[in-house]
Amino acid sequence: MIRIHDRFWDPIRQTIRREGIPYQWEALNDRVPDAEPSFCMNNFRVASGKIQGKHGGFVFQDSDVAKWLEGVAYSLMDQPNAELEAVADSAIDDIVAAQQPDGYLDTYYIINGLEKRWTNLMDHHELYCAGHMIEAAVAYERATGKRKLLDAVIRLVDHIDREFGPEEGKRKGYPGHPVIEMALASLYERTGDERHLKLAQYFVDQRGRQPLYFEEELARQHTHCYWLDGVLKFSYYQAHKPVREQKDAVGHAVRALYLYCGMADVARLTGDATLQDACETLWRSVVSRRMYITGAVGSSEYGEAFTFDYDLPNDTVYGETCASIALVFLARRMLEAQVRCEYADVIERALYNGVLSGMQLDGKRFFYVNPLEVLPEACAKDQHKTHVKPERQPWFSCACCPPNLIRLVMSLSRYLVSQKGRTLYMHLYAGGEVETQLEGERLAFQVETGYPWNGDVRLTLRTDTEADLALRIPGWCRAYTLHINGQPVTGQAQDGYVHLWRSWRAGDTVTLSLDMPVVVMRAHPRVYEDAGKVAVMRGPLVYCLEEKDNGPDLHLVRLKSPCDFEIRWEPELLGGVTTLRCGGLREERDGWDEHTLYAPDGQTHETQTNLCWIPYYAWANRGVGEMRVWVRKV
Ligand code: ZN
Repeated sequence: MIRIHDRFWDPIRQTIRREGIPYQWEALNDRVPDAEPSFCMNNFRVASGKIQGKHGGFVFQDSDVAKWLEGVAYSLMDQPNAELEAVADSAIDDIVAAQQPDGYLDTYYIINGLEKRWTNLMDHHELYCAGHMIEAAVAYERATGKRKLLDAVIRLVDHIDREFGPEEGKRKGYPGHPVIEMALASLYERTGDERHLKLAQYFVDQRGRQPLYFEEELARQHTHCYWLDGVLKFSYYQAHKPVREQKDAVGHAVRALYLYCGMADVARLTGDATLQDACETLWRSVVSRRMYITGAVGSSEYGEAFTFDYDLPNDTVYGETCASIALVFLARRMLEAQVRCEYADVIERALYNGVLSGMQLDGKRFFYVNPLEVLPEACAKDQHKTHVKPERQPWFSCACCPPNLIRLVMSLSRYLVSQKGRTLYMHLYAGGEVETQLEGERLAFQVETGYPWNGDVRLTLRTDTEADLALRIPGWCRAYTLHINGQPVTGQAQDGYVHLWRSWRAGDTVTLSLDMPVVVMRAHPRVYEDAGKVAVMRGPLVYCLEEKDNGPDLHLVRLKSPCDFEIRWEPELLGGVTTLRCGGLREERDGWDEHTLYAPDGQTHETQTNLCWIPYYAWANRGVGEMRVWVRKV
């Protein structure tokens, strides 16, 4: 059991509890003025016959309330709230009322005609919605002990199991948008029912096999697939080949990463080494060649997709919040398979940067796309950049990201530690209380930390326990000191974790001090978009320049590297952030007039300027303006 009480995370989680969760419930019920309607809850009420009407929104609208419910469940686990639980119960009543006698549950087809169900697996998201509903049900039962939704999804999975599988007469399909694979794995872990795991395994193994189910489906429907006309084709769905033959992360980034999560789960639960190897290969493709410094993934708006190695444009990026969230999901699964610091490094990179940037500090507005460079006029006037918004939006017709962000941040405690035998691994540092059983013996300790603003971590033991405490030394950290009860120790370092094996006594303290200097970063030389540019990081945080602090024309700014940074804690700014200030140069426009577009190269006039960097996650909280992460260097 982990209780988070942390200076950094508490305000964010409180904002989600107080503002985000109630706000999203209003949005799901179409009660937020000026926001795009969701139709989500309305669809369930129409599907159950409670009200008359049509299906509204996308075919996958059901999943929004599922993700919201899952977030609510994690919130209730940490902090019971009878009023919120009653609202969630009412949502579950509406959902379950729409379920069909045979277990089927998807409002689009219930309203528009059940005879067409399961005929468009490629694009119609029934299995995707089922997956999210399963995840919600498992979490909600764990939080509240209430089985209504869990029983409903078990009936739904029974129905899916009757429809899909290798047996004669069953459909040989799999979802166009993965998620049900990992959902079934977690359902299996709750129920122990082998059929649930087998179904997950079936969806993973069947994907991309010839004859290709999606081609057969298109032929049956006499329809055409939009993606076949462009560069992606079936790789959009990661169905271009069987999963073990896939070497590069391709296609729609969220689908890809959700698929890899399902593969990792099935690999772990079945002991399938070939599948685990496939996960490792795809992981390497993502994090070594196709990931932004912020943990954003998906370089192209076309297909919301991965493109090719080192193609990481900063201003036309997609970088969907959901994709960074999915990367966190995958990294946690890789970490479960093998404890290695690099996996936790990616969790941290995505979480503190590409995920958190998805939500405004007040919890009420959201980014779908998370750019690393913004020129507001381009977002308005360049068609190829209109997907990039210079400010967060109140809601989206396709509102996958906001509830996804809620469910991740509210389940943060699942990412902090893991254990194996008598080893307790600390992966992420956040303040709170940890209590667990190590081989039947109780281990409890308190964590205090100033992370991510400084690298000081202090553990205070609450129990007398023999244990190996393995503390992660983040990949960004070049030097650290470690003390037990004030005495310096070295510990044994392995795979980025320093191990402290002792007979601990209640009251013992472990103090870890991670040096957290400002680091000026470069990208791999093949990342052509970042050539000649640098980015600034401190600890896990990526920093950015905003027009608000640095004036317009950020492309004319150059950073002197190396340079001295002033590290300044600013409690009143952006909810309390550490800013970084340094000297730079700014190219002046002297000598240019409105009639001259080009001129012979000559003396460039640059002036000294002071640059102020803020954490990337907090950008666009002070009005619309330019922003950039990568700047030219002197
Ligand atoms: Zn999303």
